[in-house]
Amino acid sequence: MADRDRPDRHTVFLASRNPKKLAEMQRILTQHAPGVEVVGLDDVAPYDEPVEDRPTFEGNALLKAYAAVAATGLPSIADDSGLCVDALNGMPGVLSARWSGPPKSDARNNELLLAQLADVPDARRTAHFTCAVAFCHPSSSGVVVEHVVHGEMSGRVLREVRGSGGFGYDVLFAADGHDVTTAELTVAEKDAISHRGKALRQLAPLVADVLSGA
Ligand code: IMP
Repeated sequence: MADRDRPDRHTVFLASRNPKKLAEMQRILTQHAPGVEVVGLDDVAPYDEPVEDRPTFEGNALLKAYAAVAATGLPSIADDSGLCVDALNGMPGVLSARWSGPPKSDARNNELLLAQLADVPDARRTAHFTCAVAFCHPSSSGVVVEHVVHGEMSGRVLREVRGSGGFGYDVLFAADGHDVTTAELTVAEKDAISHRGKALRQLAPLVADVLSGA
């Protein structure tokens, strides 16, 4: 079969173990890169996923995307993201998912965040979500090509959990200009302002071009 007729020609692999993050990424990418089929870890043969031990979001995103291309041969996207709290000097940052120790727990992470900020006045509870999204794909010469985009969403950490949407720290985070948490927004409202939405909307045209062979 000629290369251009292969069934996976318009397929991009999203390397994420977090089902809610994966759903967000699939939703945003499908909207902004029409014709592209997005598959997740459940759709590919299991492989050894790398330990996210790089000190930066970009480093971890690239680590995951390169490992994904090596394992699947598919053009692959990986995101590394987290919450950076100004009063905590940018913590939990790259440690966001596992801040309160194993096993990973959003509820314990949120308790820890509330405890760490207990004495911090409202005016100093500023924070931002940030993400780096890496897109790696094999080129015609066989060399893997990398692209990285970034997105941010600024806001503040509230004093009690609110809402049931989203994931992670969404229940404690109100974006600038909003009185509700990102867990109380509709998915479309969150996608429109989120770090991941901003990054993936930048990346989507490139993904569509690469997959169509343009
Ligand atoms: P990663 O899988 O290492 O990128 O972990 C990202 C972690 O950052 C998540 O487990 C959450 O704790 C946090 N995080 C990243 N993006 C969001 C978001 O959109 N809402 C809430 N928490 C997020």
